[in-house]
Amino acid sequence: MKDNRGKKYTDGRPLPPPYSEEESQAKAATAVTAAPTVTVLPGAVVVQPAFSSEPSKTYCKSCHAEIVTNVKFKNTTKTHMFAAGLCFIGGLLCVWIPYYVKSCRNADHYCPNCGAYLGTYVP
Ligand SMILES: [Zn+2]
Repeated sequence: MKDNRGKKYTDGRPLPPPYSEEESQAKAATAVTAAPTVTVLPGAVVVQPAFSSEPSKTYCKSCHAEIVTNVKFKNTTKTHMFAAGLCFIGGLLCVWIPYYVKSCRNADHYCPNCGAYLGTYVP
């Protein structure tokens, strides 16, 4: 019994790890080379399209469809300022101009399908 135990100890000597160091180096190398290939996609970032004073093609967040926006022009303080300025310069006949010139008014963009407000173009 005692002899068998002794034999086991001498036979079962631990084998030296032959490629442990090289293997770990190779793993590290692949990890380093693989890292730049993993590109983080900015999928969550939704870029709001820049609206103009004209109806623009965009994506409606409300009804999830490709639409061409309905534009409603809105008079702003700027419009009235222009009107007042033109009244001084050109008289009452010119007062109406800013109310008809698109560049003097904000353009509100709405979805034609669901009527959702999508954004405003400020000239
Ligand atoms: Zn919509």
